Amino acid sequence: MPSYKAPLRDIDFVINEVLDTEALYQSLPGYEEATPDLMSAIIEEGAKFAENVLAPLNQSGDEEGCTLTEDGVKTPTGFAEAYRQYVENGWPALSADAEFGGQSMPNMLGIVINEMVGTANWSWLMYPGLSHGCIKTLEAHGSPEQKAKYLPSLISGEWTGTMCLTESHCGSDLGLLRTKAEPQADGSYAITGTKIFISAGDHDMSDNIVHIVIARLPDAPEGTKGISLFVVPKYNVNDDGSIGERNAVHCASIEKKMGIKASATCVMNFDGAKGYLIGEHGRGLNLMFTFMNTARIGTAIQGLAHAELSYQNALAYAKERLAMRSLTGPKNPDGPADPIIVHPDVRRMLLTQKAIAEGSRALIYYLAQLGDVVEHGDEDRAKEADDLMALLTPIAKAFITEAGYEAANHGVQIYGGHGFIREWGMEQIVRDARIAMLYEGTTGIQALDLLGRKVLGSGGKLLMGFTEQVGAYIDAHSDEAYAEFIKPLAAYKDEWLTMSLEIGGKAMENPDEAGAAAVDYLMYSGYVVLAYFWAQMAVVATDRIAAGDGDTSFYEAKLHTARFYFDRLLPRTGAHKDSLLSGADNLMAMPEAMFAI
Ligand SMILES: Cc1cc2nc3c(=O)[nH]c(=O)nc-3n(C[C@H](O)[C@H](O)[C@H](O)COP(=O)(O)OP(=O)(O)OC[C@H]3O[C@@H](n4cnc5c(N)ncnc54)[C@H](O)[C@@H]3O)c2cc1C
Repeated sequence: MPSYKAPLRDIDFVINEVLDTEALYQSLPGYEEATPDLMSAIIEEGAKFAENVLAPLNQSGDEEGCTLTEDGVKTPTGFAEAYRQYVENGWPALSADAEFGGQSMPNMLGIVINEMVGTANWSWLMYPGLSHGCIKTLEAHGSPEQKAKYLPSLISGEWTGTMCLTESHCGSDLGLLRTKAEPQADGSYAITGTKIFISAGDHDMSDNIVHIVIARLPDAPEGTKGISLFVVPKYNVNDDGSIGERNAVHCASIEKKMGIKASATCVMNFDGAKGYLIGEHGRGLNLMFTFMNTARIGTAIQGLAHAELSYQNALAYAKERLAMRSLTGPKNPDGPADPIIVHPDVRRMLLTQKAIAEGSRALIYYLAQLGDVVEHGDEDRAKEADDLMALLTPIAKAFITEAGYEAANHGVQIYGGHGFIREWGMEQIVRDARIAMLYEGTTGIQALDLLGRKVLGSGGKLLMGFTEQVGAYIDAHSDEAYAEFIKPLAAYKDEWLTMSLEIGGKAMENPDEAGAAAVDYLMYSGYVVLAYFWAQMAVVATDRIAAGDGDTSFYEAKLHTARFYFDRLLPRTGAHKDSLLSGADNLMAMPEAMFAI
């Protein structure tokens, strides 16, 4: 069974040495209590819960899966009990609004906890994970009555939430959706339709489930403009907040699927279920973006989680497994062979996993901090942070999940044939990781969002906002001691901008050029963004070593990994660049009829 140890030293490094977390939160009204000491105490408790309660249920949950019974969905043994402990310890309320019972700690802290919980057991995290976006949506767009009715129990964790968008004929293109919402005399709506693939759509872990549903009014225009947003509880809620009658929403079946098998992916039937409009008619998709953006960062964590879990286990294996001798002579002369970690190719895979996990951690925590600035900063700071988030969210979601999947695959490879055998748990990590590139917008959809809406759609403004920040960092770190990282970072930043202009020009002449370039553009951008974070980590490590501070081997390992990233992973940008600049013709010239068997 794979084991998990929360990487507390690295988490602390990112939070307190790379990102200036203390200064940030002391400058944001409402977060004064979020001191480094308090945050690290909370993180340590979260680590214990993840390691001791959730990690042991990861493999058994995968084996057992969920079952649909007459009383609804039954989660694997131990899941409901773990959730009870999670609620009892107050975890769901950590970063929620104090007005409704939350602890008002930074969202970043919630994301650190989610990283540890999700690395220990991603399927389990899916149940409370969806609640977070549901809470954010109601906080941002719910009426005062809706907030009072649903938020306290969602925030305490007594109830969980879902996001009901997808239907059998539409996922990426929600403009096609058919679920109906008919106005009722009492001001509610009768919701009728079938949603598929609904994570945590039903389960036995909480007393009620609050579905956030998109549907169409009878006279609504076609397409996305006709979509409205509703809150539909599994059990109706009385005015005093107590649970009332069962609503007409049921799980019809559970999908059998490739991975995250302990997460119930439900077909949900709404048979005239009572729903309540959130916000205005026809604004459903705009309002839903609050949920989706939260969920996108949540999904980026999944890439990091699987990279980390695979790395930890592959590393332990690589130190123990003996095979052949080192090319430079025996390293374990008393044994029959050397441990496989002596072989360059095994190190290539391990370092790829490590570089992806640690680089992604820095990017995700940074994004989480931006989220806190958006919510708590003054207008100018909030706007600046919002722009940065708009650019970086699709990059984090798609790039980190793609890279995380690669890292998970390396884990199987390092185990050799044993990686393919279920008992070791490495193949489960690959199966679990695969979904992250699909849900919350596929890689292709994120790439269109990045290049089409964010970069070209803003006339390059969002990209320049970020590259100016990178440029300022480069200027402030011109010391020769950092040159091996800062110089290439400067070159890639300039190339990124020039290349974006070139694609923009091509796309004006032929819109297919943007579609043809999008995924390579996103991957290129991901490698450059991660280089920025690796450069920052390398600079801190260089300074600490020079000052003779603390744990030198930790900082030296950082520098080695940064060098590996710059020398071996960052050059992948070259292939993406050539590919994306090769134009749309090599994709579009072949007539559809020639795609034949
Ligand atoms: C395990 C699991 C859990 C899920 N959980 C939820 C949930 O909780 N709630 C929910 O509402 N949904 C959920 N989903 C649904 C998920 O979000 C969708 O499956 C996903 O958004 C993709 O939609 P689709 O499956 O309809 O694919 P399609 O939209 O049919 O896409 C098929 C392919 O076409 C590509 N494509 C489509 N349009 C374009 C375009 N314009 N340009 C380029 N490429 C394009 C896509 O990238 C993809 O490769 C879940 C799905 C799974 C499998």
